[in-house]
Amino acid sequence: MTKRVAIGIDLGGTNCRGALVSQNGQVRAWRRIETDPAAGLTVFLQRLTGFCRELRSTAAELGLNIAGVGCGAAGIVDLSGQVRSAPNLHLLDDFDLQGHLQRGLNLPALVINDANAIAWGEARYGGGQGFDSFLTLTLGTGVGGGLILKRRLWQGACGGAGEIGHLAVEAEGRPCGCGSHGCLEQYASGQGIQQNFQELGGAERGETVDSIGIASLARQGDPVARTAFDLAGRYLGQGIAGVVNLLNLEGVLFAGGLSGCLDLLQPALEQELARRAFAVNRQQLQLAAARLGEQAGILGAASLLFDRLGRR
Ligand SMILES: [Zn+2]
Repeated sequence: MTKRVAIGIDLGGTNCRGALVSQNGQVRAWRRIETDPAAGLTVFLQRLTGFCRELRSTAAELGLNIAGVGCGAAGIVDLSGQVRSAPNLHLLDDFDLQGHLQRGLNLPALVINDANAIAWGEARYGGGQGFDSFLTLTLGTGVGGGLILKRRLWQGACGGAGEIGHLAVEAEGRPCGCGSHGCLEQYASGQGIQQNFQELGGAERGETVDSIGIASLARQGDPVARTAFDLAGRYLGQGIAGVVNLLNLEGVLFAGGLSGCLDLLQPALEQELARRAFAVNRQQLQLAAARLGEQAGILGAASLLFDRLGRR
């Protein structure tokens, strides 16, 4: 391993994962803590900087030099690393996280959207290496998206691109944390699938099951659980059809905690794609599982930090 590493961080609504990442994508000192946003912004930030300092001490013990911190954060992050809006982590709304990390740690820092970091990690080191242009869809607490166009991360004019989770799939559907209604995330995220299940009859059975529990019920043939996943798959197909008609991508990679349920989502998803996407946009399209699991975001964020430092 080279002596120069970045601290890579994947900061989500419930967990924060981090590691030391070399310039060629080797990972060491993998760690995870719970983020506990309910404790408020001050405590949340103290835990985050404490976590980074711990990784910095580990690097020192290993004789490694820290180049900086690359952090993927849940929310819309602008090109200066300020979190503009975080539907699943509201305490970071309008917070300059990049500046905070830079000053608090006295290190160069880069903050980008977490799903964008995952997409870039997969593009550099994972399941996206064979594609020029693809979408990474992260299915977890929310639904995130990251677009790679011609092997470059497309963040848009201000950093807000790729938000497939907030495509409206029901004009007046369920209210969303982003302020809109009927967003894909409300039907196809873990919580969305839970709500599908409850509304379809799960509530009458008096069962509170999380999305992973609903997945195992569906695999045992439970009709309500199957329909909850079919509904999520249908909305995903509707959203993806729109995106591929707009961008004619080569692939969609599924990442995040629910990507292991692709088998349950895929039948309804493909049916919807067949109904809605142009044949020319559908026939070359590959749907696949992402390959790097929980490491994708930290690898992507660290790699983008090295790229930025290299351009200076
Ligand atoms: Zn939304």
